[in-house]
Amino acid sequence: MNIVLFGPPGAGKGTQAKELAKHYNISHISTGDILRANVRDGTKLGIKAKEYMNKGELVPDEVLIGIIRDRIQQPDCKHGYMLDGYPRTIPQAEALKDILGKVGKPIDVVLNIEVPDKELIGRLSGRRMCSCGESYHMMFNPPLKQGICDVCGGKLYQRDDDKEEVVSQRLEVYAAKTKPLIDYYSNINILVNIDGTGTVESVFRQICDVLDSHQK
Ligand code: AMP
Repeated sequence: MNIVLFGPPGAGKGTQAKELAKHYNISHISTGDILRANVRDGTKLGIKAKEYMNKGELVPDEVLIGIIRDRIQQPDCKHGYMLDGYPRTIPQAEALKDILGKVGKPIDVVLNIEVPDKELIGRLSGRRMCSCGESYHMMFNPPLKQGICDVCGGKLYQRDDDKEEVVSQRLEVYAAKTKPLIDYYSNINILVNIDGTGTVESVFRQICDVLDSHQK
């Protein structure tokens, strides 16, 4: 199954994508994770991407299109993929259509996780990460021991772009550049809205119901 997980920053895409990819045995492709790994490793791409990411801006389309073109052709995508954080602009969506057409892996469904703006700000500013990939929320999903990852014992940190001054910029960029993709995918009848305001488990169940009925 080939899925795009869509929604504003803080909607829970990463959390859901990780679980869904396991459940359906498909590859989770998070462009944010790919970029952050490059920033951490100090690659040329990472050095360039960091400038945009820390300001809450989008990394240029041609960079992301190149990343996705390579990644989607990797052998682990043969059972399907779950795109998380891509596409984020109309040109990215157009390029994706072209790439997927060539490799014969068209999108089956775009899941649009909806969460009101005022809730997003609280979710993003309370989010804490661990380098092992786990994420927490200081209020809604705190670790057992403050500041320490339950899974690996690593020290939790706040993403630079989850700091208050960057969060509002990310939401503005989402509204201006990414939100138009809702109409783009709705016009070709592959968009399904998901209420993202419930618990992680309830959102997961909602998505599974949609995907299971698609698979029949
Ligand atoms: P995320 O983890 O998906 O919230 O992404 C974190 C940051 O990485 C974004 O705020 C952008 O700066 C950058 N980024 C991730 N995916 C894309 C994309 N598809 N297009 C442009 N920039 C992206």
